[in-house]
Amino acid sequence: MKPIAIIGAGAAGCIAAHNLDRLDYTTLVFDKSRGVGGRMATRRSSVGEFDHGARCFTAKTPEFTRALSRAPVKRWHEADGHSKGPCFVATPRQNQLARFWLDNSPTQLNCKIDQLQHNSDGWRLRSDESQTFGPFQGVVLAIPAPQARDLLANSELAIPAVLTQVSMVPVWALMFSLEVPLAQAIYDKPDPSLSWVGANFTKPDRAPSAGGYAYIAHASTEWSRTNLETDAVEVAEVLLQHLNNSIAGFSTPISASAHRWRFALTHTPLGHSHLALDDHLILAGDWCLGSDVEDAFASGTAAALQMHRNLSSAR
Ligand SMILES: Cc1cc2nc3c(=O)[nH]c(=O)nc-3n(C[C@H](O)[C@H](O)[C@H](O)COP(=O)(O)OP(=O)(O)OC[C@H]3O[C@@H](n4cnc5c(N)ncnc54)[C@H](O)[C@@H]3O)c2cc1C
Repeated sequence: MKPIAIIGAGAAGCIAAHNLDRLDYTTLVFDKSRGVGGRMATRRSSVGEFDHGARCFTAKTPEFTRALSRAPVKRWHEADGHSKGPCFVATPRQNQLARFWLDNSPTQLNCKIDQLQHNSDGWRLRSDESQTFGPFQGVVLAIPAPQARDLLANSELAIPAVLTQVSMVPVWALMFSLEVPLAQAIYDKPDPSLSWVGANFTKPDRAPSAGGYAYIAHASTEWSRTNLETDAVEVAEVLLQHLNNSIAGFSTPISASAHRWRFALTHTPLGHSHLALDDHLILAGDWCLGSDVEDAFASGTAAALQMHRNLSSAR
């Protein structure tokens, strides 16, 4: 059983691990966060649950539709009509999809990989706390493209020109909780600085808590880019002002906090499902094909298959 390292426990990394496990590889999944799911994230608090990353996801291909039919996901009917087809959320929280794919695969969380090194016996990984792991016969690097570039550079590995062309944009997400719900569950672009506002408590398995009605607002990418380095407390105050000015009946929230996703959405994708480099190092992530959960699924699936082909032919 050949050992494979997967860096990044988002949707792409977890579906890659799932497929490689089924092909009888031994996988170890690394993530710098304390949990899995990446941008499919839910924050829990006394004033409600907030899906502050991916709002919901659609399935356009038969492959993803089939994968979702077995997974812990439910339809979010309130979002239908606001998206390209039926909208799903993972239940009870967004990261449940990644957890489901990961099953019992071993993970190394709170572990930021900051260097890759290839020797005659395979790949060794070093964390920012100087822990080393390996050797691995292959590595799937399933992290946002700008972070993949940094990791390659730090490892003194060549950065392919096609990777430098990929770009990702930020999003500030505002989590707020109201005593009385708003008139609509979803507001698309209520104001030029806000791309979307949604009632999280209308999603399946996310009933309002005693603490209030949980909402998420996403700042537009233009606004998020302009305010990228602004303090989170100030961002929350300014976005609340915009909500107050643009949504009728908006009342002072019980609580509000902002989260910055520095690499939230793909602006310029790679245009291929994955990027295979030398020595069985394969890059994957939503940014390969586009900007959504289904793109991450397709990329992680393709990367796993490519790894299997490469290692089988190297025997
Ligand atoms: C605000 C927002 C709204 C969105 N809305 C939607 C939507 O409505 N519908 C939709 O389909 N998609 C949406 N998306 C996009 C969706 O979340 C992503 O397409 C998908 O989750 C990407 O998965 P991924 O595995 O490619 O990357 P990620 O989820 O980013 O996973 C990468 C993982 O790598 C880890 N990592 C990074 N560097 C290192 C390192 N050096 N060492 C170890 N670990 C590392 C990170 O911690 C992360 O967990 C949204 C995203 C955001 C941020």
